[in-house]
Amino acid sequence: RRVIFWFKRDLRIDDNRALFEACQNSFEVIPVFIFIPSILERFKSYDRRTGFLIESLKHLSKEIEKKGGRLYCFHDEPQRVFLTLIRKYGIQAIFTNRAFSWSGEEVEETVKKLCLNEGVDFVTFNDNFLAEIDKIPYRKIYSKFYRYWEQNLRLTEVSSPERINTPKLNEPEIDIVASEISHEKNIVWKPDFGIRRLKEFDFNRYEELRDRLDIDGTSKLSPYIRFGLISLRKIYRVASEAAGQDCQFIKELAWREFWYHIKLNFPQFKNLEFQEKRRKIRWQNDEKLYKAFIEAKTGYPLIDAAIIQLKQENWMHNRARMIVASFLTKDLMIDWRWGESFFMEHLIDYDEVVNVGNWQWNASVGPDPKPLRIFNPIIQAKKFDPDCKFIKKYLPSLKKLPSFMLHDPLTHRLPYHKPIVNHFERLILIKKLYS
Ligand code: FAD
Repeated sequence: RRVIFWFKRDLRIDDNRALFEACQNSFEVIPVFIFIPSILERFKSYDRRTGFLIESLKHLSKEIEKKGGRLYCFHDEPQRVFLTLIRKYGIQAIFTNRAFSWSGEEVEETVKKLCLNEGVDFVTFNDNFLAEIDKIPYRKIYSKFYRYWEQNLRLTEVSSPERINTPKLNEPEIDIVASEISHEKNIVWKPDFGIRRLKEFDFNRYEELRDRLDIDGTSKLSPYIRFGLISLRKIYRVASEAAGQDCQFIKELAWREFWYHIKLNFPQFKNLEFQEKRRKIRWQNDEKLYKAFIEAKTGYPLIDAAIIQLKQENWMHNRARMIVASFLTKDLMIDWRWGESFFMEHLIDYDEVVNVGNWQWNASVGPDPKPLRIFNPIIQAKKFDPDCKFIKKYLPSLKKLPSFMLHDPLTHRLPYHKPIVNHFERLILIKKLYS
């Protein structure tokens, strides 16, 4: 039989469950990727991320060609693409790895309906998680979720298909090599970096170094996980062989699945604070403060350096993400939704469920029992960037200043933007805001 395999967030042929099944069960497989205009339009500054996506697709296309197949890329709404393919080429099924994000589910739903109308099978697999998160009883606290998560892991990898037999189509597909989609080359992120990094990364030192802003101590695998360039099962295997099944790195992978678990059980989470008592916070939403924040002009070198990192690299260190999220919601008293959409604009690893979850958590409105988590930007700078290597990398104009000055812009007058708020004065207001 002839089937379509629909690539979404799983741009690999190795250990790709739905692709494996499609090839096992069919004579001909048409691998398809679709650029969805309504999604592309939502992201204003998507160009370098689209650049990464296009490079990843070229890489995938070569892998598919090595197996004798061909990747077809389209730029249209999926239901239109699939309707044409189904009717013109006698497609009997569409195979795909199931989407779990809000926007992914919405798109998938339209295709599912189309298949039903056309009498075509829509076959999905859960390949986006290490555990069967929908089988885990609802747990609102991460540590409780983790205990079940560990017991529900599905770690068996599947091999890449021996052969992909693709029929020739006569369709106005887009040429990803000459790419007609607006994009810029991404100079920081390359498709093959992930596999190399997985081999070279020292998982044993992760726990010790992961919070240091001045050290390359986290895996930087997030863009590869987001687009599925490497399978989670493979990452789990390599990390657990190096550092054990209960290592900190694997606990972080479980955090990602925890946010999806929350979303599955509380879908309103996208826009609504998880904690009911925090739904009536009167955010101050001062446009001027927000502008200073997104333009990296807060007067706190650490905060500004982190924002510059995000804009230059489309990625930000996790510790820095926590510090800036606390600063925006607590010190500036700006709605976490503003921060969430600012990150959406820039992050290469942007994942709406994970981003919303983390923003809610850092704004102390999410599923976490701890009442109020306020990061002091001065202490954080001293602790996690002791020699100001991080600050100086992104703010080279401050290179000559000593660390003690850069750490504490409230005590020391810097030849730099004046701090837009005084952290200590804001503390009293923050407690009122959250009361
Ligand atoms: P590592 O520290 O090496 O961790 C390995 C992997 O574990 C990551 O790649 C990621 O898949 C997962 N992970 C680590 N920390 C978390 C976490 N807190 N929540 C969920 N998964 C985690 N991560 C995203 O992938 N997409 C986002 O849109 C995103 N938005 C965030 C927003 C805020 C406000 C904060 C505080 C965190 C956000 N994170 C997000 C989580 C985390 O910051 C990134 O996953 C991490 O920095 C990626 O770098 P890494 O691969 O080097 O991480």
